[in-house]
Amino acid sequence: MDIDKVRGLSLLLAGASIVLMIISAITQSVGLVIAACVVCVIECIVAVKFWRCPTCGKPLGPLWVKYCPHCGEWLV
Ligand SMILES: [Zn+2]
Repeated sequence: MDIDKVRGLSLLLAGASIVLMIISAITQSVGLVIAACVVCVIECIVAVKFWRCPTCGKPLGPLWVKYCPHCGEWLV
């Protein structure tokens, strides 16, 4: 998967999880808490599986990195 798509998808899922948490806190809905946790788990799976350097294949760490901390490959 393209690194920019992974970054966008991860940010989208993280944002959706936060929004769901806020809405669940306001409405006190257990279902929304579970939904937020599921989205959070999916985000973690996407990050672990796809947020990797396209050159060396090692994990990149935070979403805002501009280059691979392992091999120095420029990501932007
Ligand atoms: Zn690398």
